[in-house]
Order: sequence, then C-alpha cells, then structure tokens
Amino acid sequence: MSDILITNLRTRAINVALSYPVHTAVGTVGTAPLVLIDLATSAGVVGHAYLFAYTPVALKSLKQLLDDMAQLIVNQPLAPLDLETMLAKRFCLAGYTGLIRMAAAGIDMAAWDALAKAHKMPLVKMLGATPRPVPTYDSHSLDGEKLATQRAVTAAEAGFRAVKTKIGYPTLTQDLAVVRSIRNAVGDDFDIMVDYNQSLDVPSAIKRGRALQELGVAWIEEPTLQYDYVGHQRIQSALDVPVQMGENWLGPEDMFKALNAGACRLAMPDAMKIGGVTGWLRASALAQQFGLPMSSHLFQEISAHLLAASPTAHWLERLDLAGSVIEPTLEFVDGNAVIPDLPGVGIIWREKEIERYLI
Ligand SMILES: [Mg+2]
Repeated sequence: MSDILITNLRTRAINVALSYPVHTAVGTVGTAPLVLIDLATSAGVVGHAYLFAYTPVALKSLKQLLDDMAQLIVNQPLAPLDLETMLAKRFCLAGYTGLIRMAAAGIDMAAWDALAKAHKMPLVKMLGATPRPVPTYDSHSLDGEKLATQRAVTAAEAGFRAVKTKIGYPTLTQDLAVVRSIRNAVGDDFDIMVDYNQSLDVPSAIKRGRALQELGVAWIEEPTLQYDYVGHQRIQSALDVPVQMGENWLGPEDMFKALNAGACRLAMPDAMKIGGVTGWLRASALAQQFGLPMSSHLFQEISAHLLAASPTAHWLERLDLAGSVIEPTLEFVDGNAVIPDLPGVGIIWREKEIERYLI
C-alpha cells in the first residue's frame, strides 16, 4: 500500500446539552463545549474525533488552534507516531501543553481513527488487541443525597456494578451521608468511587479520607489540587484506600512525575489530555511499569478501545459528553462496554443534531 496522505482537516465548534449537568465541588459544567474533527485522507476515509474544551470560553481558541495546525499536517503521511514527534518538536519552545497539547491530541485521535478505517478494522485491532467487554462504572455528579442515590439505583438496574459520585459537600457528615445512602440502596457487592475534584487541602483530605475508607469506597479521586503531587503523596501515605488521579495529566510526562512522587495507587489518564492514542499507549506502559491499574476519563468511545489494549486496564468511565451528536454505537451490557464491530473508533456523527448546536 502506498503512503496514505492527510488531505484536509475540518473542525466544527458546538456547545451541546448534557442529560445531567456535571456539578462538582469547585463548579458546574452545564453544557459540553466540543470541537468536532474530520481528518480527510487520500485513502478516501475520514477520521473522526472530538475535543472537550471544558469551558465555552476556550472553545473558539481550541478550534482556531486546530485550524492553524492544519498547515502542519496536510500532505503529511497518515502516520500518527510521526505526526506526534513532529508536533512535539514544533511546539517545544511554546510549551507542548495546555490547549496546544489538547489540539495535538485531537489530530492524533482522528489520525488513528482514519488509519484503522483505512485498514478496515476497529481501533482495538489496529492496536494489536482483541475486542472484549470493558468493565464500566456509571459516573455521576455532586447530586445531593436523594438524586445521588436515585442515579446509583438506576445504574444498578441497568446492570452496572459500580458508580462514582462527586463529593466535597460543606461538611464531612454530608459526604458520609451520601455514600451511606448509596451503599444502603445498592448493597455490598457494588463499587462506589468518590471524587473531590481537587477541593480539599491536605489535612482535610486525610481527615475525610480516613472516615470514607471505613465505608469501603473503592477510591478517592483528586482529593487536593491536581498539580500537587507531593500533597497527593502525603494523603495516599496516610490512607489505606487508593487515591486515584490522572484526568489532568497533560502528556505522559506529567504522569511520570506524579508516579515518581508516589501520588496515587491508581491512574486514570484522560484520552485527550494525555495526548490521544499515542499518549495513551505511552501512559499504559508507565502504568504497567509502576504496577498501577489504569482507568479512563470521559471520551468513552475511544477509551473502550484503549483500555482493551492496556496491560493494567481497570475501569471505563461512562460519562456521555457527546451523546447528543454521535450515534450510540458503544453499548453497555451487564456493566461492560461493548466495542462496536465497526472500522475505527465507531464514531458516527448525527449531522442534524450537530447543526442545532453549531457555534
Ligand atoms: Mg474526576
């Protein structure tokens, strides 16, 4: 096969509705500001990916960065590892992090999708692994005791065996009440993860963590500021329950620093922030060497493929950011994600819906 070339990069900015707003202890994400990417190739296949800007304020900048990066990749071979090497070098002086890194990850994810489509196989097979069911937890919000419990029950009825709830209520008593209420509703044979979204200082995290581990939570996520790896290490060393983090690691280099600091006993890179498929593959090798179970963050469609190809795969997070604009090709059966038997990631745009949300 002759070299496949990238022929065009199209981006669209949308701000879509979420079925549930994501409330956290440090603020609410009410809509999902997304950049949709279509990477066209000389093989006739088009790679799809999306990026999450977190805030509508960053949406146009992220789209513009991608549009400006197009000149670096159009007419280049469809070779994601080579593209990553080129972009890392190109942005070395500016700082290969932040929105630049997120945009580069979007190109990477779309390029891998196109490559797998060109070879007519699901991404997981392109990565050399076999499609298999991926254990999944249903991911919730800072919902208050009543709704948190209701959502956990709905998830259990749908076949999930684990949920995550966000905590960091004004008092520890409230945190404990929410976890106890969920536990009473779903029973003992069920994992409950909790997420503080960086909202505590180190002494409070240790105090709350000691009380929570008595309730048998599966992990405590980002108890303190995400960049404070030493603080996380102090919290982890004071607790038996695993500290979980990783959604804010920008590239495997951040993960390497966190793991060297002993910040956590579990890892959960975000497919976008870690650097797309290429970044994830490097992250999964780090998790293997440090002996850490690795879960995903958002981006459930591509993360299912990536976890199926990861040596220490743990949990897929089900939190549907793009559900209103992509066909539900990723199904959940008996608490597992079922990878679609489609070429690439299996992302199919719902064009009519996209039109409604275009910025
Ligand atoms: Mg989190």
